[in-house]
Amino acid sequence: MPFICENVECRAVLARGQVRSIREDKGWCFYCPDCKVRNELNDIGEAGGPVQLVQPERSDLPHKVIATARPLEDGRYAAQLRVQRALGMKGTYAVEERWEQLGVFLDAHEAVAHARSVATDLLDRKV
Ligand SMILES: [Zn+2]
Repeated sequence: MPFICENVECRAVLARGQVRSIREDKGWCFYCPDCKVRNELNDIGEAGGPVQLVQPERSDLPHKVIATARPLEDGRYAAQLRVQRALGMKGTYAVEERWEQLGVFLDAHEAVAHARSVATDLLDRKV
């Protein structure tokens, strides 16, 4: 089983030979060679036996929220939102959910703020 970088913007699939697992004060981990994010590892080997490293199952999957305002022809702005979350099972890609139009606002900042608040509600509810 390869390791998968937990950084949702990276999600690099790494052969075990590609990463150097190191033991730090907090436990085992590796640093992604692509994005340098620290990825935690658990040693499931038997006591006294060889070290056997696995990636912990994550319940709090990382996500990325992209809130944008799209200018409309009439000078107003449509609030748009994209939410990326890592898959519960290991995989290369995060799933992405999109909302193209969450409402129309006179001001771009308001549109972005609205999209963000929708994202907050959404992520709270699903956790
Ligand atoms: Zn990475």
